[in-house]
Amino acid sequence: MDKLKFKDFALSEDILESIEKLGYKNPSQVQEKVIPLIFKNKDIIVKSQTGSGKTAAFAIPICEKIELEEKNPQVLVLAPTRELALQIKEDFYDIGRFKRINCTAIFGKEPITTQIKELKQRTHVVVGTPGRTLDHIEKGTLSLKKIQYLIIDEADEMLNMGFIDQVKAVLDKLPKNRVTLLFSATIPQEILKLCAAYMNNPINIEIEAENPVINRINQIYYQIEAYKKFDLLNKLVYTQRPESCMIFCRTKKNVEDLVLQMKGKGYSCSALHGGMLQSERIDVMKRFKRGEFIFLVCTDVAARGIDVENITHIINYDIPMEKESYIHRIGRTGRAGKSGTAITFVTPKEYRFLEEIENSFNLTIEKGDVPSKEEVEKGKDIYREKLKAAPKIKKDKSNKLNKDITKIYISAGKKKKISPGDIAGTISSIDGINPEDVGIIEIQDNFSYVDILSGKGRTVLDGLKHKTIKGKSVRVEIAQK
Ligand code: AMP
Repeated sequence: MDKLKFKDFALSEDILESIEKLGYKNPSQVQEKVIPLIFKNKDIIVKSQTGSGKTAAFAIPICEKIELEEKNPQVLVLAPTRELALQIKEDFYDIGRFKRINCTAIFGKEPITTQIKELKQRTHVVVGTPGRTLDHIEKGTLSLKKIQYLIIDEADEMLNMGFIDQVKAVLDKLPKNRVTLLFSATIPQEILKLCAAYMNNPINIEIEAENPVINRINQIYYQIEAYKKFDLLNKLVYTQRPESCMIFCRTKKNVEDLVLQMKGKGYSCSALHGGMLQSERIDVMKRFKRGEFIFLVCTDVAARGIDVENITHIINYDIPMEKESYIHRIGRTGRAGKSGTAITFVTPKEYRFLEEIENSFNLTIEKGDVPSKEEVEKGKDIYREKLKAAPKIKKDKSNKLNKDITKIYISAGKKKKISPGDIAGTISSIDGINPEDVGIIEIQDNFSYVDILSGKGRTVLDGLKHKTIKGKSVRVEIAQK
């Protein structure tokens, strides 16, 4: 039988074009199962592995169903961390770009006023962490009356992080006739109770990948005293020679100490932990995704749900105390069909945690051989060059999409009473430009941004020089955003 294609779903050209430009050839297993059910407006509980394509599984059909003209948000996604919320927002943006779907992320540690402004504009999808979402609901700055879809992503992690009451408080405030979709790697009892109380005859879906991500990951452990860990890490770096590696530590302090030690040895590394400013965290993630450094040293919270392509190695410098964390951590490698290596350091006292992980998930984690001096020396010759070489900048996955799209800055906004219709109207009146070439329009107080599609950015920039918007002269340039 022929493989199912995205074309086989009732998807419009706008959405199919984004999918094609993102390079998705066939629907993944979770997408095959979930997309038709969302089209039928069913409540679903999805137990699926990390990296299975679950974000697109809900974002694709939901983008298809969104009513563009509606001013109030129609979709609310709850995610446990700010990083994940931003990533989901990006995925909606990528998939809904040609349909012009607007998406807003709301999370703590960022000024609420900026978010309030964004929420005042037309936004179709809101992705938030539970606490900040609740704040906006209580302030009356997030309208829920038109919410048709609620997605609870990484529900088990919400539970682990103590957010479950906030999730329930949000659920209590939503319209009853909505569709609820819940995604979770594991389904503990508490989550089942939540589903029974808040979902409408949910359909259970379990994705057993044919070749589960776990099988593609070479898992090794080393039993090692804490004070010898750094020495072992140095040896493994040269014998394993990672292209891109996440090193997990238990605490913020351990992360900072290890980064200091690694920098002392000249390794290309950066820290990521919950104690950092939000802007710093976003910046580090961006640089890691682009391949600007090799080692990301992080805590669990900061790294949750992060989707970075081509991570070759995961090192559990400190073994996780929560066994589920082990699966989440190592699931950062072996993504999108690739293989990877996960190395876990275990002190003698922690050995029982390793056994617990093996038993709970039915895994065999092999004991690793400590590399010999010769092996390390040989590795050094090969790897030193790479460590010294200029970083290889990876292509952002939305680059392909961005190629044909130019974001333009216009020096007028709300204060000059400019509306999206005014901007779209003026741009469409330029010779050679059709209404379909105008993408997402974002209007701020004093300026606006507009996406120009189909590679027509230059034509619009030139054309606008001779035009006014709502009778006003404006300055236009390529956006620095
Ligand atoms: P997720 O499980 O949502 O974290 O997605 C994991 C990765 O798979 C992301 O990098 C997606 O961009 C990618 N992805 C999602 N759907 C597909 C697909 N149908 N084909 C190829 N890659 C995909």
